[in-house]
Amino acid sequence: MKISKLKVTQAATHDQPLLNSTGVHESFRVRTIVQIETDDGFTGAGETYQDQSAVIEPNREWLIGWDPRQITGARMRFHGSTASGTKGDTSAAWAAVETALLDAAAKQAGLPLCDYIGGRARDRVEWAAYLFYKFADENGQGEVATGAALDPAGFVRQAEEFVAKYGFKALKIKGGFFHPDVDIETFRLLRKRFPKSEGYEIRIDPNAVWTVETSIRVAKAIEQYEPQYLEDPTDTIEMHAEVKRHTDIPMASNMCVSAFAHVRPNVLQGGIDVILGDHHHWGGILAFKETGVLCRVMGWGLSGHSNNSLGVSQAAMLHACAATPELNFPADTHYPWTDTDGDIIKGGKLQFKDGYMEVPDAPGLGVEVDEDALAERHDRFLRDTPSNRSEMILALDPGAKPRDGSWTGFNFPNYSKPRW
Ligand code: MG
Repeated sequence: MKISKLKVTQAATHDQPLLNSTGVHESFRVRTIVQIETDDGFTGAGETYQDQSAVIEPNREWLIGWDPRQITGARMRFHGSTASGTKGDTSAAWAAVETALLDAAAKQAGLPLCDYIGGRARDRVEWAAYLFYKFADENGQGEVATGAALDPAGFVRQAEEFVAKYGFKALKIKGGFFHPDVDIETFRLLRKRFPKSEGYEIRIDPNAVWTVETSIRVAKAIEQYEPQYLEDPTDTIEMHAEVKRHTDIPMASNMCVSAFAHVRPNVLQGGIDVILGDHHHWGGILAFKETGVLCRVMGWGLSGHSNNSLGVSQAAMLHACAATPELNFPADTHYPWTDTDGDIIKGGKLQFKDGYMEVPDAPGLGVEVDEDALAERHDRFLRDTPSNRSEMILALDPGAKPRDGSWTGFNFPNYSKPRW
């Protein structure tokens, strides 16, 4: 079994105007799709975030002729330097290549991917509703929550849509765009509408935009609503350790602990209790399993991080979560927001039921790339430039100011400090 063909394709798909601490999502997201074919007639697909083609292409020469079942050797050999000599995101690029190799190898073995890599811990995986403050979508054709959610009441309405449509029991507040008092009020209203006694869990993630003092203040204010965890309220592991001295709410992260290099500092400083694993960040599906082992050894919780996934990445996350017994929180999924354009996989989107997604029975990932859909999104990648939608923010607050040419770290609404 040898790789005979490698195809790396950038794809741009519509994204809704979702808000986070850095501003508003651009009008489309870019993903990289890796596809392989083998000399014995199998295919494999992988996906990762942004355009990683410059990192993957220099590996083409040795990948052609490589046996996709030799994952360990491929992982050791994969290098992250781009053709121009700059360092790319090796972990993210490798994650897409590894997924494609595992997909083809599992198909050849006749097994679903999670069974090929050692077997499943569960037949279905539970996910969390990933809820955002947002502007109304210009296209208005999404499968869920295309309207605006610009205050706590609007946020609760969005949560109701997600719960009604997908059955999620865990709800994630993407905070940090508005003043922390707005996030506290959203938490209060959400908890009132979705009580713990009915099995609902609520978590909040302001993407490290709060100071230690603000993080402690918010933690104290929401303790009574029994948060599942507080995700990246502030910046460093050390700062989280300080917040932890003032609250029993578990601290979670996909920012300050998001790679193997961050594990030792977290062991020493003890800031983060729950890791949000992500095979794109940690370097593949097998690395996700290794993250699980780390969590078991250290007594940390394991949840899942998600960002802008299309169907191939969602399937990869599904298998990674199914194959990792240590996963003990519903994983985040951005997949419901993959909407207006539909997906790049055949047969329509993967489906949630009662907050869960079933592992497909088919060998490999269980999804196949729709070549026409992919070609269409590749054309958009070549043709269009995403709008940064900053006029939407200015319409909301004419005094809002971009910094350093982007909206990163901007102050809204008109707060003088760079972070709350
Ligand atoms: Mg996060």
